[in-house]
Amino acid sequence: MKELTIIVTVKQVPDTAEVRIDPETNSLMREGVPSIINPEDLNAVEAALSLKEQYGGTVTAVTMGPPQAQEVLEEVVAMGVDRAVLLTDRAFAGSDTLVTAFTLSRGIMKLGTFDLIICGRQAIDGDTAQVGPQVASFLDLPQVTYADRIEIVDDCAHVQRSLEDCTELVKVCLPALVTVLGGINRPRHPSLYNIEKACDETCVSIMGAGDLKVPASMLGLNASPTGVKKIFEPERTTECRYLSGDEKEMARTLINHLKDQSIL
Ligand SMILES: Cc1cc2nc3c(=O)[nH]c(=O)nc-3n(C[C@H](O)[C@H](O)[C@H](O)COP(=O)(O)OP(=O)(O)OC[C@H]3O[C@@H](n4cnc5c(N)ncnc54)[C@H](O)[C@@H]3O)c2cc1C
Repeated sequence: MKELTIIVTVKQVPDTAEVRIDPETNSLMREGVPSIINPEDLNAVEAALSLKEQYGGTVTAVTMGPPQAQEVLEEVVAMGVDRAVLLTDRAFAGSDTLVTAFTLSRGIMKLGTFDLIICGRQAIDGDTAQVGPQVASFLDLPQVTYADRIEIVDDCAHVQRSLEDCTELVKVCLPALVTVLGGINRPRHPSLYNIEKACDETCVSIMGAGDLKVPASMLGLNASPTGVKKIFEPERTTECRYLSGDEKEMARTLINHLKDQSIL
């Protein structure tokens, strides 16, 4: 088996379950909210580093975001990633998932050939789980989602997928894209040596819209086919009703009640 060239996508996300929404713009209020690396992207990085240790090769991390997203790249370099690329430009602002994936795929194409792209399954803020599959589609790659084990055998990846009620084993020829679940591994802590390496700014390369050679009309808000109409917290109400009668009567009352509420 030849050495592997692996790319990992990592996203900076707000570190909070208390997401606040700006009622005027319907966008997330990020000010004053500390940021972290998306948890499943740590698993993606760990999976990439473990494969590199087994088979040799290199691991490159890519993120798209504002300049401060460089922090997550420094974190993964400290874990042992060889190279990191920050895609940042005002032209990328307001991208929906499709344009995020398009921009990431264009950035990845600039990096040369690769064997495997590993993404987290889902980001904890956008929560769509769309970006990995969309990157695979833009790069015309086979994809395997929900991975909880990856092995490389003869230029193919043997990937175990964990689904709701079963486990699937999928063999996919490289190059391919895999999205991983949080249970696939336990991400390592950065080593002191690598933390020093991460402090050396030269390990992060920066690419803007000009480097991707993509017209502005294909980037950011204007190119995004989806828009957020409204974001709101659902009203939480609880009501407790006791039913009386025998089992049949109670079942009938319950069904009628659910029909009245348009639930059935
Ligand atoms: C309609 C719409 C409008 C939006 N408008 C804006 C906006 O104006 N401003 C704004 O900041 N955001 C905006 N977003 C959010 C932005 O599109 C998402 O943050 C981004 O596309 C990633 O989607 P997600 O969070 O659902 O990631 P998921 O698809 O859940 O992420 C899966 C995996 O893909 C990878 N990934 C995802 N995003 C990135 C990234 N940026 N860099 C590297 N890897 C990544 C990671 O490995 C991650 O684990 C919008 C989203 C939608 C749906």
